[in-house]
Amino acid sequence: MRVPVIAGNWKMYKTSGEAAAFVRAFLPLVAGVREVEIVLAPPFPSIVAVAELVRGSNVTVSSQNVHFADEGAYTGEVSPRMLADAGATHCIIGHSERRQYYAETDDAVNRKIKAALAAGLTPIFCLGETLSQREAGSTFDVVEAQLLRGLNDIPAKEAPKVVVAYEPVWAIGTGRTATPEQAQDVHAFLRGRLKGMWDDAAESVRILYGGSVKPDNIATLMAKQDIDGALVGGASLAADSFAKIVKFK
Ligand code: PEP
Repeated sequence: MRVPVIAGNWKMYKTSGEAAAFVRAFLPLVAGVREVEIVLAPPFPSIVAVAELVRGSNVTVSSQNVHFADEGAYTGEVSPRMLADAGATHCIIGHSERRQYYAETDDAVNRKIKAALAAGLTPIFCLGETLSQREAGSTFDVVEAQLLRGLNDIPAKEAPKVVVAYEPVWAIGTGRTATPEQAQDVHAFLRGRLKGMWDDAAESVRILYGGSVKPDNIATLMAKQDIDGALVGGASLAADSFAKIVKFK
């Protein structure tokens, strides 16, 4: 059985003080939740504070990006080793906003996933088609290419540590969620491609859906066979709405 992952991507929101206030409000709301991996992804400056506040709880911490080198002359970047040291256990890689605004390529995504795994971090590997790609009928081609390039040369033994997030770009921050059927179609396709690559190990890969997930649509998405959780942006910024999503059952 795949343990669901519900991850909140705070993007460039919240100071350390605001992050701490969120965590103090959030932890009691989800204290009883045991069967879900709960992840908060604050901006870099709040990772240490959030990690300290959640220590010993059922909540873990992710970054929103990572560099592929251990250290070096890469101004403005943060390495996997630094993130692990700061208390992060996960890192979001290849979010569409990074692909769009920072020209992140599939090759860079692949290097980052390998580096994250080598440092013992769980990559939350994002992929998804734009609206024009969906309308052109190329959704499956696009996500297949992103999946295969992003996971190139990563062996099946790493499968249980990899989390994939299918995030149709047209659904991110737009209030326009993919229907559970649209999402399941892509998730099933991705699972099939993972099987082609990793055989039975593909069954252990958690595939999350992301794109305008809210308290009122999470349950129908989670009811689908290949939807193993959610990557949540806007609705993860308030403790009560994110707690409702975490407690989707
Ligand atoms: C995201 O940032 O990954 C995301 C899915 O955002 P939203 O939930 O706001 O669409």
